[in-house]
Amino acid sequence: MAELLDISHVRLTKRPLIVCDIDEVVLEFLTPFRDFLRSRGHDLLPRSFRLHGNIVHLNSGEAIADDLVSALQEEFFLRQAEWQMPAELAVETLAELAGEADIVFLTAMPPRHATVRRALLDRFSLDYPLLASEEAKGPIVKRLQAGRAVPFAFIDDIWRNLHSVREHAPDCLLVNLMVNADFRALAPDPGEGISKAGDWTDVAQIVRAHISR
Ligand SMILES: [Mg+2]
Repeated sequence: MAELLDISHVRLTKRPLIVCDIDEVVLEFLTPFRDFLRSRGHDLLPRSFRLHGNIVHLNSGEAIADDLVSALQEEFFLRQAEWQMPAELAVETLAELAGEADIVFLTAMPPRHATVRRALLDRFSLDYPLLASEEAKGPIVKRLQAGRAVPFAFIDDIWRNLHSVREHAPDCLLVNLMVNADFRALAPDPGEGISKAGDWTDVAQIVRAHISR
């Protein structure tokens, strides 16, 4: 059995807890990834809600092979600091929410890239605790909650992660945010019990209504 993700550096108070994804939520991902791909002679086309099959050769328009998609994603994560920027109002809204709640970042990324990501987040004063893991998010959120009675919220762009948290931490408020409007329009409905936010102003409103009850 895989070793449990180390969450011991995450210090929580008795306040509400907000667990927040990074890519396409706090930091833009799809827009800078497309720019990165174009710099490498490729492009990302918003044809369906996935990367594979939608990354093409800039000249021929033909989809590139899956292993090249993976290699480009890996290179992008290594170079993320040159490309990724905060989503509009993410920094300001999180700073405001941090006055009322604990904030923890939970990013679905190979842990080997966590150091680069930590430095990038710190550059934008996003100095909240960071967990980087490719494990399912639900059990991790459940461990953070640890049976405490505080209100808590989870924000993510991917329905699989939202559903995982719904399964393992059913009391948690679930908020779906994807900052890239082209891909958001193609996203499947996240399903019952998941609040859809169009931007960080929406997120603040939805989360506040929940944690200030
Ligand atoms: Mg994400």
